[in-house]
Amino acid sequence: MTEVTRCMAAHDEDPTACIGPQDAVTIVDKHGTAVPACENHGTVLLASLYDGRVEPGTVVGAATRVLAAADTTHPFPWLSDALRTEPSQRSNADNRAAGE
Ligand SMILES: [Zn+2]
Repeated sequence: MTEVTRCMAAHDEDPTACIGPQDAVTIVDKHGTAVPACENHGTVLLASLYDGRVEPGTVVGAATRVLAAADTTHPFPWLSDALRTEPSQRSNADNRAAGE
């Protein structure tokens, strides 16, 4: 089996593959740590971070797409049986809909 190298933003437990260049965007956490990411894993990482942000990478328009997609992505989305009852467990869009 060939080991496929994924971008630095891919979580070990996330089974999904990268989508597009692995430096399409840069995800920055609240401490200023920056990680290059593909659009798929950048979206997931941004959705999972508290106070994270996305900066443009090598793909024009990718940061805008990641920002929009992360808004409706649950934190750690591969946890399909996770509770989605607390604001920190839900997407930003769901929290807005719930008034939180
Ligand atoms: Zn990736």
